[in-house]
Amino acid sequence: MKILIENLKNNNLKVTPQRLTIYNYLYYNHIHPSAETIYNSIKEQNPTISLATVYKTLKSLRDSGLVQEINVGEDSFRYDVQLTPHSHIICTKCNSVFDYFPKENFIDNIQDDVSKDTGFELNSHQMYFYGTCKSCLKK
Ligand SMILES: [Zn+2]
Ligand SMILES: [Zn+2]
Repeated sequence: MKILIENLKNNNLKVTPQRLTIYNYLYYNHIHPSAETIYNSIKEQNPTISLATVYKTLKSLRDSGLVQEINVGEDSFRYDVQLTPHSHIICTKCNSVFDYFPKENFIDNIQDDVSKDTGFELNSHQMYFYGTCKSCLKK
């Protein structure tokens, strides 16, 4: 909990119980939850938190750079505390989203190609892979 409080303070966010609860949930559940998933998972223990509070809190965490918002092609965004550049691999059966950390040169090579082909100077990228996860394959 101490590191979470420090992270909030270092990013100029006031430490409120709601922020701490939601950030804590994201920090220990690397499942790329949506706001609704977070709300449903924490509401029993935190009856005073509303879905609107979850949205507001996620927005301030995102604006301060503590979480990133990812779009996996659903109606709502998913949230990720993992800030090291990485890609996402999505199971189209159970909609689970996993982190994938490609070998360094893999991304560099693609960025080089994209930049050469388009003349862009790139500063970020998003990459998504789709398929069936191991546990769904077993079913
Ligand atoms: Zn699956
Ligand atoms: Zn991720």
